Amino acid sequence: MKVYNTLSKQKEEFIPLKEGEIKMYVCGPTVYNLIHIGNARPMIVFDTVRRYLEDRGYKVEYVSNFTDVDDKIIAKAVEEGATAEEISQRYIAECKKDMEGMNVRPATKHPLATQEIDGMIEMIQTLIDKGYAYPSSDGTVYFRVKRFAQYGKLSHKNLDDLQSGFRALQVSGEGQKEDPLDFVLWKPKKEGEPSWPSPWCDGRPGWHIECSVMAKKYLGEEIDIHAGGEDLIFPHHENEIAQSECCNGRPFAKYWLHNAFLNIDNRKMSKSLGNFFTVREVADEYDLQVLRFFMLSAHYRSPLNFSRDLMTAAKNGLERILTAAEHLRQLKGPDTGTVLSEEEDRLLEQAAGFKRKFQEAMDDDFNTADAIAAVFELVKFANTQADERRSGLFAEKLYEILTALTDILGLSLEAKEEILDQEIEDLIAQRQAARKAKDFQKADQIRDTLLEKGIILKDTREGVQWKRA
Ligand code: AMP
Ligand code: ZN
Repeated sequence: MKVYNTLSKQKEEFIPLKEGEIKMYVCGPTVYNLIHIGNARPMIVFDTVRRYLEDRGYKVEYVSNFTDVDDKIIAKAVEEGATAEEISQRYIAECKKDMEGMNVRPATKHPLATQEIDGMIEMIQTLIDKGYAYPSSDGTVYFRVKRFAQYGKLSHKNLDDLQSGFRALQVSGEGQKEDPLDFVLWKPKKEGEPSWPSPWCDGRPGWHIECSVMAKKYLGEEIDIHAGGEDLIFPHHENEIAQSECCNGRPFAKYWLHNAFLNIDNRKMSKSLGNFFTVREVADEYDLQVLRFFMLSAHYRSPLNFSRDLMTAAKNGLERILTAAEHLRQLKGPDTGTVLSEEEDRLLEQAAGFKRKFQEAMDDDFNTADAIAAVFELVKFANTQADERRSGLFAEKLYEILTALTDILGLSLEAKEEILDQEIEDLIAQRQAARKAKDFQKADQIRDTLLEKGIILKDTREGVQWKRA
């Protein structure tokens, strides 16, 4: 199996630190609002990576944090007259609902930054003791970047270039730093902000130290995979490496995986640009499995543009798979029998070939786009080969292969009814609107469209009811 490692900028053979086990850390969201679909990309992508690794027989320990102390959370709390904790708790709960909708499995552990302050103070103290960090007179603690000769190895940035860039950017109030490159590990509290006592001042941790500490506590000093969106490469992950490697005296993560952006009109979807859709908004219009399928239709390192057309294409594609699954379910029936004909054996061999294709694609740096192409080949094969000529057992075996693949992608084959129901409800709403506008011709057309789909409408005093023919 090959994975692309940001550290070496190439695909490398994947060899875990310990045979059969994988320790994986994925940076989670800062919780001050509903998550947007850009945030959903790493969740879906790395959940799929996890599922595939498990399918390959690895035991995966998967840790993903919630950043629950941060300037944006505090700002939101002030705006609403709530506490920072109330804000973060609310949006953690909402985020978990969205994850469930997208079939993103809960992590083995979802640590919260505010619950790990002791560990952060301990790591900062070790860094000070070893000469890698220093407190300034106002109690801010900085990391001494120049002491870590390998700084820049992940983002492939050169210290001298960084230095000149930073000098130009230096802002007032940072005069306490020994060097413009140094970054904050601990900062003094401001009035009304959450704070914790520390040997340097009452204050709160910098963002980067959180992940170094939580990864160490829940996975150990050396981990296999560290992942997140590509905007985290610098400075967040570069700084995590500096902190962890200087504190622990050993390499931090073996493989660094980064997903490309989800864009809108070819610009990164982000809250600050205001060009975003929340997962909740998308859920009003689509089953979230469609969103998941859309995300996986591209390779995770390719930028992906979000558009209604692509979502429609994803919906149609997913429906093709779900319809084939429903067909197989009907064919296999309650009594599947126990014997396959010779021809069926031969055909199942052929079907196993699509599974191998799927695995080859996933073995090549988790190429879900090609893996989905293999699923479509299997669907086409099932549509042409599975019918009344064949035994129920044959249909069952094909269904098993299809399920094995869609499980890895985190797609449920049982979801067809729900997706179709949504479409029907939409058409009924359109018909009601047409009737209200006295456009009876359009209303009748919609009724006919529904009838073609096998849906019978009944107008009652309580409203419109429908049933399948
Ligand atoms: P944040 O809450 O901004 O720290 O983001 C949480 C995760 O979402 C990080 O891994 C980010 O890299 C990722 N992320 C944010 N915006 C996007 C986007 N437009 N496309 C892909 N990933 C994103
Ligand atoms: Zn992180």
